[in-house]
Amino acid sequence: MPKAKETVLEIDLKALKHNFEYIKSKLKSDTKLLAVIKAFAYGSDASIIANYLQNLNVDYFAVAYVNEGVALRDAGIKTPILVLHPQAVNFKTLIERCLEPSLYNTKILNEFISIATKEQQHNYPVHIKFNTGLNRLGFREDDVDGIISKVKNASAIKVKSIFSHLAASEDLEEKKFTQSQIGSFNKISEKFTEAIDYKPILHLANTSGILNYPEAHLDMVRTGIGLYGFGNSESENTHLKPIATLKSVISQIHHIKKGETVGYNRAYKSERIEKTATIPIGHADGIGRQYGNQKGYVTIHGEKAPIIGNVCMDMIMVNITDINCSEGDEVIIFGKQPDASQFASTANTISYEIITAISQRVKRTFIDN
Ligand SMILES: *Cc1c(COP(=O)(O)O)cnc(C)c1O
Repeated sequence: MPKAKETVLEIDLKALKHNFEYIKSKLKSDTKLLAVIKAFAYGSDASIIANYLQNLNVDYFAVAYVNEGVALRDAGIKTPILVLHPQAVNFKTLIERCLEPSLYNTKILNEFISIATKEQQHNYPVHIKFNTGLNRLGFREDDVDGIISKVKNASAIKVKSIFSHLAASEDLEEKKFTQSQIGSFNKISEKFTEAIDYKPILHLANTSGILNYPEAHLDMVRTGIGLYGFGNSESENTHLKPIATLKSVISQIHHIKKGETVGYNRAYKSERIEKTATIPIGHADGIGRQYGNQKGYVTIHGEKAPIIGNVCMDMIMVNITDINCSEGDEVIIFGKQPDASQFASTANTISYEIITAISQRVKRTFIDN
């Protein structure tokens, strides 16, 4: 792996392939796989990741918002794209770019039917989202009859899939709750498919749902975090490979005396003669202030260098008193060791947050061997 000469997020496409194949190995051969690539493919690079997965014949993509889907179409993605949380103001664009909306309440269903009809669409694919306990987005079981009568009267749309989302699939203490969500989704989909003369795709499981609840795989699964290398448990993490390594370099080393302070507000005060390194990455790059003041650390030549003082917008300072290193040397923030989940835990957060936080200012590089 090339040594960093500036701050980069290095994406390992072979690791992505490994994770894709590991997740596929958990599925029956006819279960479809949807790759969730919202938020720049969890902070990596949506168009590169999507193109790579498209070549591996992934069945579906999902993004959160219409503009994310537009970016994928601009990048040449032909695979169907489900937009999980579209807003009606973007429906015309959504139709122009062949993106497929998740419709989750009566208001948005009506708005979509009206725009699709005006745009002279016929059987435009839509996805009906049900709420089975997350209480975030979705119709309820009682709404099924109302949806069916609207769908039957609207030739502009056709229900391509019906789906729901699990609230606690990674938490085995919540097994009962998850099983009740699976049960209610099964009930809803039975009722729905009985009332309509074709069979929509049924899907429910996210990454942890795939790993922990094989009975919830249904016709298709939706994986996000697993593709990027995290399985939400120690044991699953050993089967997956983090695709992203955040690296930087030492810009400058300071030797400071006892009692000198480091950074804004003089938040760190040295207790002895110490050595500090300044690294070109800050909160504008996604390393939030909560990692400062010796919560988080970076790794230099395999050794931990705690972040001292406050995280600045463009820089952090770290304590390298006991590390033999020089200006220009490589610094690892997260990657394989520590992984993003371990780094995130120093600030009481999770892999999902730190990897999606790495801002667009950080250059993305790719390795494929
Ligand atoms: C983000 C998201 C996913 C992916 O979840 P992971 O835990 O990353 O696998 C799946 N489904 C929906 C509806 C989502 O919003």
